[in-house]
Amino acid sequence: MSNGKTYLGVDIGGTSVKLGLVDEQGVIRYSEAYDVAFDRYETPILKTVLKSMKLFLAEHEVTEQELAGIGVSATGGIDTVNGVVIGSAGHIQNWEGSRIKDEMEKTFHLPTAVLNDANAAALGEMWIGAAADHRNVIVMTVGTGVGGGIIVDSKILLGANGLAGEIGHIVINNDGELCSCGNHGCLEHYGSTAALIRRVRDAASCGKIILSEEHEVNGRFIFSEAKKGNVVMLELLDSWIDDIASGLVGLVHIFNPELILIGGGVSAQKELFIDRLREKVMAGCMPHFSKYLELKAAELGNDAGLIGAVYYCIQQNDLVCDK
Ligand SMILES: [Zn+2]
Repeated sequence: MSNGKTYLGVDIGGTSVKLGLVDEQGVIRYSEAYDVAFDRYETPILKTVLKSMKLFLAEHEVTEQELAGIGVSATGGIDTVNGVVIGSAGHIQNWEGSRIKDEMEKTFHLPTAVLNDANAAALGEMWIGAAADHRNVIVMTVGTGVGGGIIVDSKILLGANGLAGEIGHIVINNDGELCSCGNHGCLEHYGSTAALIRRVRDAASCGKIILSEEHEVNGRFIFSEAKKGNVVMLELLDSWIDDIASGLVGLVHIFNPELILIGGGVSAQKELFIDRLREKVMAGCMPHFSKYLELKAAELGNDAGLIGAVYYCIQQNDLVCDK
């Protein structure tokens, strides 16, 4: 073990849990992932996670006395005050109602802080990632869904019970299609990678674009076709980026951030995605909002949640110590 405090970071996703020993500088010393969906969640995820944590600590010969706390990033709606799962957008059985904070504190006798994975990722980026040294940041993750976190004066915006930052469910089209949340016209339904793929498939089904069977339609394929100059693909990308920009422009006018970070696999597409999105967002904002605004790709990738959860735990412990 290194000098200084060490924290256990826990990032609970729908298919696996990632565990990591993280130091006070945000550096992950060791990390490992364990499957949580092996029996389709018949074994509750939390039970699997607790078991994996014991195993992980034993394998690395770390005792709970050597740790300063546990930071947990978890999928779904998290009541951050009580550390309980209160919503499960992915409809994972045996997950809603999980008392993460209580169970971990009871098992490991360590202060535990829990927050939603998108909010954790945003904090991770602010601690040691692309948003370091920034105080007002909007982080949007574009993947199978659209998630996000809003940082105001260096603190993650949690709202009344920890659910704030669900930026994928901003309505951008009142007459729009049904979203997984039950509402119509949400940004997530138009701006996720899944939505981009759906747009390409729709274009293929009405003959605007020819897809050969050997091609798996995914983000990588769509961007590689666009790079080759495929006009229909470029148009589809353009209207997809327009929709993402609409959501971000609204957020800029509410929160007046100095930085927007875009995460998710597609954020690696600089020219065809990040640069164009920046142009559209800047063009849509009132000039005094865009003057000092930056938009770029996030940096931490899959580690952001784990690191951010540890940072949240440190922030919470500091608050306790200040009292
Ligand atoms: Zn929605």
